[in-house]
Amino acid sequence: MAIQWFPGHMAKARREVSEKLKYVDIVFELVDGRLPLSSRNPMLDQILQQKPRLVLINKADLADPIQTKQWEKYFTDKGFHVLAINAQDNKGVKNIVPKAKEALKEKIERDRRRGLKPRAIRAMVIGIPNVGKSTLLNRLAGKKIAQTGNKPGVTKGQQWLRYGTELELLDTPGILWPKFEDQEIGKKLALTGAIKDQLLHLDDIAIFGLDYFARYYPSQLSKRYGLNEQEIAFLAPEMLMKITEKQGFRDDYARGSERVIHDIRQGKLGRYTLDRYEEIGVVSDET
Ligand code: GDP
Repeated sequence: MAIQWFPGHMAKARREVSEKLKYVDIVFELVDGRLPLSSRNPMLDQILQQKPRLVLINKADLADPIQTKQWEKYFTDKGFHVLAINAQDNKGVKNIVPKAKEALKEKIERDRRRGLKPRAIRAMVIGIPNVGKSTLLNRLAGKKIAQTGNKPGVTKGQQWLRYGTELELLDTPGILWPKFEDQEIGKKLALTGAIKDQLLHLDDIAIFGLDYFARYYPSQLSKRYGLNEQEIAFLAPEMLMKITEKQGFRDDYARGSERVIHDIRQGKLGRYTLDRYEEIGVVSDET
């Protein structure tokens, strides 16, 4: 889904999320495990205010597991509840309810003391495009329940999905814009497929990816493309030429770039994380 984020669209997206916030107890913020910071919406704290939040680090199957552990700590240190999942293969998804309960412990306890009957937790999923919102909703979708009278003001047609007896989810996720303010973040988003290719030159994205893999995951890179020690030390543009040639594309570097980008997106070069925990402060960190 190609979304062009113009200021009007951003304002509308923000309004829609703010409107729905009133009906939920907790927000499930989905981030891409390969980009735990760059795949977040820059205004999220402002939009969510004090609403309890569970950060779901999705696509953990594609991310560097050592980095994921560190990012879990990062979010925990920020005071959020956090869980790494793989929505596609339904991994970790069953831990969402216990985590949400933990996040809402005080509220649940308060309700209990007031003698209120326990009810299902109401939640909404939010995140930037392509982060896996629909996939997660599909995993969590049980019975659809239409709006009922005890949820005043719920927009007509708004439906809830019931997951077990303990969770009700708004059936449409909140879609917010990514951070594309700086070039580097733009390249990271493009490399993972979070934003559309046409916004950047293919060879720029491929070169960015090769440079990154040569630095952090050189053995994965040399294994995939049969690069020797000397070739892995090439500057990324030269490496792209070499790979293009080795793939049998002669001097068709556009095709070589496409292959590299495709391979990285599909995890053919192994697992990787593009926002590195040890570089916080270098990667934008304002949310
Ligand atoms: P949305 O735009 O946020 O609703 O994203 P989608 O649910 O459409 O997912 C975007 C792409 O990511 C799809 O191709 C999904 O199959 C894939 N995807 C979603 N979750 C995961 C995951 O945990 N692991 C992997 N490898 N792919 C995922």
